[in-house]
Amino acid sequence: MIKVGLLPIGTFTDNFLKQVVRGLDQLMPEIALLTAEKSYPSKAKESSSGQFAATEFLEKARGFEGAKILALTDVDLYGYNEDGRRYSFLFGLAEFGGKAAVVSTFRLQAASGEKFLDRVVKEGIHELGHTLSLTHCTDAACIMSFADEVFQIDARNGFFCQRCRGILRRMNPGEAAFYRKLSEVGWTGSPRTA
Ligand SMILES: [Zn+2]
Ligand SMILES: [Zn+2]
Repeated sequence: MIKVGLLPIGTFTDNFLKQVVRGLDQLMPEIALLTAEKSYPSKAKESSSGQFAATEFLEKARGFEGAKILALTDVDLYGYNEDGRRYSFLFGLAEFGGKAAVVSTFRLQAASGEKFLDRVVKEGIHELGHTLSLTHCTDAACIMSFADEVFQIDARNGFFCQRCRGILRRMNPGEAAFYRKLSEVGWTGSPRTA
């Protein structure tokens, strides 16, 4: 059974996807790269804005086998909060304590490929953290800190803070060995070579 599957939806180079997997693998062992979907979920595109509904990507991801499925897309996402207020865009979205998550690379572009990858991996870990029942963290350096601007993503150090690691262990007791790894390593921006 796949622990974590990375599901590309859109157009990405093989090299980029391999780098993302290698980055995520530092924190999420046994991550598998799923075959890329070239077409976006039907009904997802909002014609007025040209943006795509993040929830449709979660729906798509739910259909794949695995404990956690992280969709990665290149289109701009939008969504709504619990009060029905529309977010002008989303870096990502996840089912809290659930299976599916999505990250958009659309607004994570950076001057260097290294910085771009850093943002994508940090957002990926962050959204997977929500699927592991973590809420937002007030520690700006923690991977679970909230971000609606890229500088906030850049401020994250790539690790779960001590408080979040404690919650991870409490909320996911059956996966002790798996999640212990989360507290031992972090995303440092330089993935180990395969
Ligand atoms: Zn979040
Ligand atoms: Zn934290």
